[in-house]
Amino acid sequence: VKNNGSPGVGFYHDEMTQAFPNRMIMETHLRRAVELNELTLHYQPQVDLQNGEITSVEALLRWNNRKFGAVPPSEFIPIAEENGLIHSIGAWVIDQACLQLKTWALQGIKQIRIAVNISPKQFTQTDFDQVIMNALKKYQIDPRLLEIEITESAMSNMNTTLIMLKKLKKIGVKISVDDFGTGYSSLNYLRLFPIDILKIDQSFVREIQSECKDAAITKTIIHLAHSLGLEVVAEGVEEIEQVSFLRNEQCQKGQGYFFSKPLPSEEMEKKLLDIV
Ligand code: C2E
Ligand code: CA
Ligand code: CA
Ligand code: CA
Repeated sequence: VKNNGSPGVGFYHDEMTQAFPNRMIMETHLRRAVELNELTLHYQPQVDLQNGEITSVEALLRWNNRKFGAVPPSEFIPIAEENGLIHSIGAWVIDQACLQLKTWALQGIKQIRIAVNISPKQFTQTDFDQVIMNALKKYQIDPRLLEIEITESAMSNMNTTLIMLKKLKKIGVKISVDDFGTGYSSLNYLRLFPIDILKIDQSFVREIQSECKDAAITKTIIHLAHSLGLEVVAEGVEEIEQVSFLRNEQCQKGQGYFFSKPLPSEEMEKKLLDIV
């Protein structure tokens, strides 16, 4: 793919032979990651931009392997999606998030929502709603405390998406569109699907200060969300100037390094208890 007009075929082959066995080994290790307790969830706060309170957290998967160390999700999620492991890993994530909600409830920590990332593969699994239902039941969780983050690419098949979203809506979980604005057919599915929340992709938020196109798109998404009665969250908020801009535009929530990086469960807990 990257070879057109490049100096030699050799370069391409070197890259292949290096990447290939590595990926195989990684896959072998990934297969055992759940049972070896190598996966954890970190939690990143979503903050109400009017009063600064944490209203929810996004669960972000972390894999710490003895051989590879910390492998970023951008590397292992695509592998898991390809070999089907995403189903068991994804179910583990949902189970773990519900367990966390239960644990925080027992500790008397104020009720916040946990948002989990769902890969398109998982979402199109016909009994995906059962996976959600089972976890909620197992830990007796109020469905409104669980949020399902899907991307636009998960919604490509209108019919199956609509059926699944209706089932999820009936269960009572919240549904958000992740990386909003980066996929296709956004406006049509906003019309058809029962969506609760739009997450403005961080690529738009990054340059809202300097790029007038990014500012315009961000404003438009915020206003669109408002007129459709949806919640709106800006992702990748790193600077105070972005906070001011978003607050000015009445964006409800922000998420990003400005507020906090994703934290291990215990650290998130301290934050929620206001110890730190
Ligand atoms: P995402 O869902 O768009 O998650 C946001 C990513 O942006 C996270 O990267 C987060 O750590 C990072 N981030 C948060 N705030 C900032 C900021 O202010 N600036 C910048 N530059 N980045 C920020 P992370 O944790 O490496 O995750 C990458 C992607 O991996 C996620 O993107 C999501 O697509 C996927 N992922 C993570 N956990 C899961 C999971 O449990 N299941 C699935 N299917 N995918 C997951
Ligand atoms: Ca996400
Ligand atoms: Ca995102
Ligand atoms: Ca993303």
